Amino acid sequence: MTDSPKNRPATEVGHLGRNPQRFHGAVNTPVFRASTILFPTMADLEAAQRGQYDGLIYGLHGLPTVRDLQDAIAALEGGHGALAVPSGLTATTLPLLALLSAGDHVLVTDSVYGPTRRFCDNHLVRCGIEVSYYDPLAGVDIVQSFRSNTRVVFAESPGSLTFEVQDIPAIASAAHAQGAKLVLDNTWATPLGFRAFDHGVDVSVHAATKYIGGHSDVLLGVIVANAATFPALHRYWTDISVTASSDDAFLGLRGLRTLVVRLAQHQRSALKIASWLATRPEVQEVLYPALPGARGHVLWQRDFQGASGLFGVILQPIAQARVAAMLDHMRLFRMGFSWGGFESLIIPIQPQLARTATSWHAAGPCLRLHIGLEDVDDLLSDLADGLSRLAG
Ligand SMILES: *Cc1c(COP(=O)(O)O)cnc(C)c1O
Repeated sequence: MTDSPKNRPATEVGHLGRNPQRFHGAVNTPVFRASTILFPTMADLEAAQRGQYDGLIYGLHGLPTVRDLQDAIAALEGGHGALAVPSGLTATTLPLLALLSAGDHVLVTDSVYGPTRRFCDNHLVRCGIEVSYYDPLAGVDIVQSFRSNTRVVFAESPGSLTFEVQDIPAIASAAHAQGAKLVLDNTWATPLGFRAFDHGVDVSVHAATKYIGGHSDVLLGVIVANAATFPALHRYWTDISVTASSDDAFLGLRGLRTLVVRLAQHQRSALKIASWLATRPEVQEVLYPALPGARGHVLWQRDFQGASGLFGVILQPIAQARVAAMLDHMRLFRMGFSWGGFESLIIPIQPQLARTATSWHAAGPCLRLHIGLEDVDDLLSDLADGLSRLAG
């Protein structure tokens, strides 16, 4: 593979992480099923035992399908290396386990993905790690939340449910001045929408379950790290043995090939629908950083290359029964967890329940929409009918 001149992202996603000549000319790296790998010589086996062997070692330590996915995402995001794991939640939690020890403190954004918060509260605390939460909008003021033992800052931007855009460069500088690492959950933007390593992030994690997989048929996570942080993560990944399977890595690579065109379409339709919703009398506010005038738009414009199709909506105050009348009869927007697939989704959300460092208030009920790849006018008509049912 040649890397000069540097290709643009749409070309990169088609060419990274594959080498047909290794596999009889097959365009895609096949699903590679193996536990035992045979060594040609005793010297090779002993090199593998010393950790000085470049070839395959054992199924748990990375098979070709998994390694190709890792290499492709690391190159796309500009990280030193990547690790593929069985879910997005494994990707958010593994760096915390690998980088923190008893007596350390981790500072987590108050807008963090709920299950990541639950993991910190239930399991890091049990391991003797101090956990506290900070205002996602803190920016440079995050220094006030540091303790002498703060080793990791965990960010997520935009935040889950509430979509605050964090000032990642400011948080990265503050963290580094303190000797702490910055871990970012970059799932919403993907490696294409936010160049994490250009903004000082040490570890960027992705629920590849979402846009990278893109078809609601795989659970997959990817952890990308800079050169200074990668070895500690790689050691932990090997020691605890949480490689993604080859089947799932194959689906991740397949999704990656169309990521640029899918994301462009998700963003185009989401922007059109968000703009329309913002004009509707039933809607109080649209939480979509890519929307001009929305909260976080200025920072989004400064730091991001693109947006995805996920955003929040705050409705005017109205009875829950009216919301159910809307959601129970949608034709195209269906209710379900996760997002990033080709299909549109809508769910009611209650962001205020997950806050401890800040309070979050909305006068009316809140919804989260994922704008899929359907025709945008069909989606608009489904939403228009839904808002009529809402209004009664
Ligand atoms: C969905 C999600 C995860 C977890 O991904 P799973 O593959 O479902 O475990 C992590 N972070 C964010 C921001 C997510 O939206």
